[in-house]
Amino acid sequence: MANDRLARAGALLDTLSVDALLVTNGTNRRYLTGFTAHDHAPDELSATAVISSDGVTLFAPSTNLPWAESEALPGVTVRPAERKWTDSIAELVKTAGWTRLGFEDATTTVAVYNELRQALDSQVSLLPIGDATDSLRAVKDESEIALLTHALRLTDQAFMAAEKRIRAGMTEKQAAEIIAEELRRAGSDGEAFPTIVASGPNAAKPHHAPGDRTIQEEEPIIIDMGALHQGYAGDLTRTIWFGQPSGQLVTMYRTVQAAHDAALAKAAPGVRGIELDSAARDVFAAQGLEHYFVHSLGHGLGLRVHEAPSASMRSRDTLEPGHVVTIEPGLYIPEWGGVRIEDVVLITEDGAQNLTSSPKRSVEATQEKNA
Ligand code: ZN
Ligand code: ZN
Repeated sequence: MANDRLARAGALLDTLSVDALLVTNGTNRRYLTGFTAHDHAPDELSATAVISSDGVTLFAPSTNLPWAESEALPGVTVRPAERKWTDSIAELVKTAGWTRLGFEDATTTVAVYNELRQALDSQVSLLPIGDATDSLRAVKDESEIALLTHALRLTDQAFMAAEKRIRAGMTEKQAAEIIAEELRRAGSDGEAFPTIVASGPNAAKPHHAPGDRTIQEEEPIIIDMGALHQGYAGDLTRTIWFGQPSGQLVTMYRTVQAAHDAALAKAAPGVRGIELDSAARDVFAAQGLEHYFVHSLGHGLGLRVHEAPSASMRSRDTLEPGHVVTIEPGLYIPEWGGVRIEDVVLITEDGAQNLTSSPKRSVEATQEKNA
């Protein structure tokens, strides 16, 4: 096959014992074909791809044909889709004489499945393949690492500029608007996900949406944001404050920082996702705080904000060179607030490289300044 991604997808056909694979996941389609169009909705795909040992066939509606052709990676054949694209798939399966067609069950709707079942000969088996194609994206190639590094650089730049402008007395929404402006100014293609600005008690909710609450002094403010660069997502969390941090904030911040450092020190190839998670969780457990760490330590980052590998208590992944994973321990105390610190690391041949460079607050320095 003409490129490394297709070669690895081709190897997947053997592993799964299928003749071909139908790709309905838009992120996987982009990764395997190069075609960057987004899907308008789960039942409105902008194209569909079929992987076989002959390469990849990308079926695009006639309106998208020139666009798809201009972006298609080597080894990808672009063809016009029938009005009902499932008919094009069925025709290809019939012509090639395939009897085992794998499909992405997480993103194939029941309606599409039924249409395919009707259009295909009865001796053709339709086989669900789970997250097999998603896992192809876990190890990043050089071009992806360059794009991700750039997305993270834009994220850092925007955070540092926004931090200088955000003040106590502003609302969370005003702070989020400043972050959006600084992301644009840095050259980001947009936000990789809706920015989180969570102040005071709102910081006890890991996924708080910025609201009309006014940011106060002495309380924690969690900012979670990411630039988007050519489809690749940045992801960064910092916890900041204005004025003198409360005693509880100092304690929480130190503990989260220690958990973060423990996980960062552990990150290396061969380490299991569950072990990376434990490195941070054990720091919290030593202080009886583990119940306040309500999410997993980290996730893979790439064309999607959450992808393989996972670093959680339930993870079955093992870190490999080329994995890009977040390290984001947090503590969330109902009604008080929370602290989260998130960096992104690249797993290398002999360890890990921190791709995030936004400065973290130093509780020692703040106390001295205010003493
Ligand atoms: Zn984040
Ligand atoms: Zn994250």
